Amino acid sequence: MQELTHYIGGEHVKGTSGRFADVYNPATGEVQAKVPLASQAELEQAVAIAAKAQPAWAAVNPQRRARVMMKFVDLLHRDMDKLAEALSREHGKTLPDAKGDVIRGLEVVEFCIGAPHLLKGEFTDSAGPGIDMYSMKQPLGVTAGITPFNFPAMIPMWMCAPAIVCGNAFILKPSERDPSVPLMLAEQLEEAGLPKGIMQVVNGDKEAVDAILYDPIIQSVGFVGSTPIAEYIYGTGCAQGKRVQCFGGAKNHMIIMPDADMDQAADALVGAGYGAAGERCMAISVAVPVGDDTADRLIEKLVPKIEALKVGPYTAGDDVDYGPVVTAAAKANIENLVQSGIDQGAKLVVDGRDFKLQGYEDGFFVGAHLFDHVTKDMDIYKKEIFGPVLSTVRAQSYEEAIGLALDHEYGNGTAIFTRDGDTARDFAARINIGMVGINVPIPVPLAYHTFGGWKKSVFGDLNQHGPDAFKFYTRTKTVTARWPSGIKEGGEFSIPVME
Ligand code: NAD
Repeated sequence: MQELTHYIGGEHVKGTSGRFADVYNPATGEVQAKVPLASQAELEQAVAIAAKAQPAWAAVNPQRRARVMMKFVDLLHRDMDKLAEALSREHGKTLPDAKGDVIRGLEVVEFCIGAPHLLKGEFTDSAGPGIDMYSMKQPLGVTAGITPFNFPAMIPMWMCAPAIVCGNAFILKPSERDPSVPLMLAEQLEEAGLPKGIMQVVNGDKEAVDAILYDPIIQSVGFVGSTPIAEYIYGTGCAQGKRVQCFGGAKNHMIIMPDADMDQAADALVGAGYGAAGERCMAISVAVPVGDDTADRLIEKLVPKIEALKVGPYTAGDDVDYGPVVTAAAKANIENLVQSGIDQGAKLVVDGRDFKLQGYEDGFFVGAHLFDHVTKDMDIYKKEIFGPVLSTVRAQSYEEAIGLALDHEYGNGTAIFTRDGDTARDFAARINIGMVGINVPIPVPLAYHTFGGWKKSVFGDLNQHGPDAFKFYTRTKTVTARWPSGIKEGGEFSIPVME
């Protein structure tokens, strides 16, 4: 049994709390490693090291900090297969999908190479007589991030790369379900030239999270995960005076208009609904065809595609569309929600309940499910299922369809499939959701734009990556400078105004 470590002060460090969590191979159901769960004292040790190392790192010029990111990109490419394998082994997603997880993080690292430009301040020459005014973007100091299981490479990189390139030290508390890739990223950053103590990984659960939230030295906390925990971390972190951004759960609707290309829409739904076993915050979990005829045509196209999905372990190679879900508990939760859908009167059009994979009977596999005639009051509509379950809610008009997405408590992503530009434009303008796809089912913005939902999918003001990340990880300081030769008279006693 492998015993995983923390990564503190540039070393792999064994846990000392005596508490561990099991790390599963979701394909076989076996426990393959134990991850240490940090105590408050272990977290504080990492914070002390970070606080000591950070000022020297902040003093390194931005170009040199960016060069660490350049080298980090090279190492991510060099180690791509190794990273993807470690990721799939603990998460369960297919190898091509695991590589996508790494690449979507790598793209943000590439964006961070632009730090010298992005960190430039503003300058006003002669703001007044003999007076110049300039603003600087300075690092916060010691920052921390808490990440979910479903993107163990991408989301840690979305946080650590901008935090570090801005001159901060960063402490990552990754998901205890799949901690190996985050540990590898910390090693790679140091191989790329990052001084020890600037990127540390402290594994743990609520105890480590609370230690982060109440630590007086940590200046900011980034969180991605489920909404109840996001709400808790936002409230607690803000009450401690920290800068906090939290990204929560989702229930993403895709509206299919009568004029949509139905083959294209069905293909999009299958990929967006079942890819990564539905364990994506940008997965489409609700299909909203407009009109019964559209719904019938859509379901007719969807059923054979869903029934043909190949479910299996990542080791089966390219022949697999999606793998197991992450834990037995996640599987049980999905199965319970499917049962609630049946009990509450939805029609189960594709029934994945009997799915079994020979040789992998103990793995956490869930067959693909498709519901039709789902209504707003059902649990499968209200709750995030986070599994391979697509719910169809039939709307009789565009207004009813957009109303569903507008009224849902979550607002992470959404999509509309139509050939009508006017409808698409109206949808993009009126919808109260952060990321919108027009004939694009998973509209995850690229690294140089920003990522974030609205409503209960987010707590905080700034999005992830893109220019917002540079705002989140820096503080603005504005200097008004007048040189002694400019002071002609004695003191001034009324508030200075520029005349
Ligand atoms: P989770 O909320 O269970 O865990 C996320 C992190 O919080 C982990 O590091 C975990 O250790 C920690 N945590 C768990 N329980 C805690 C507690 N009681 N107190 C303090 N910390 C705690 O989420 P998950 O299951 O790992 O990830 C899936 C969720 O993340 C889904 O809801 C998904 O929609 C969401 N997600 C959102 C986005 C986004 O950008 N909006 C992206 C990816 C995932």
